[in-house]
Amino acid sequence: MNIDELFDFTSFTIDREPHIVLDPEVCKSCDIRGCTNCCPARCYSWSEDDQKMTFVYDGCLECGTCYVVCHRNAFTRWRYPRGGFGVAYRMT
Ligand code: SF4
Ligand code: SF4
Repeated sequence: MNIDELFDFTSFTIDREPHIVLDPEVCKSCDIRGCTNCCPARCYSWSEDDQKMTFVYDGCLECGTCYVVCHRNAFTRWRYPRGGFGVAYRMT
């Protein structure tokens, strides 16, 4: 099963209070931006033209990869969603 097929079995209950908050100013001077390649849900996108990082938490799969990959501590908040919110995997 690939990541696109996984989304077919996945639903989200989106919390209006984001569970991950990013300081985009830190990302401006980041030399690697590994998050853009490592996030399986493609929540991070860097615009070279605008020199701007955009982060959207709605489709977060809660894998924790970005927390491990970010070497600049760009998060002002990183936690799992509150109870009842976030991703729900339906594999059966
Ligand atoms: S790795 Fe961290 S600092 Fe670098 S772009 Fe991603 S979130 Fe920002
Ligand atoms: S926890 Fe995983 S899915 Fe969520 S934003 Fe980070 S890398 Fe992407």
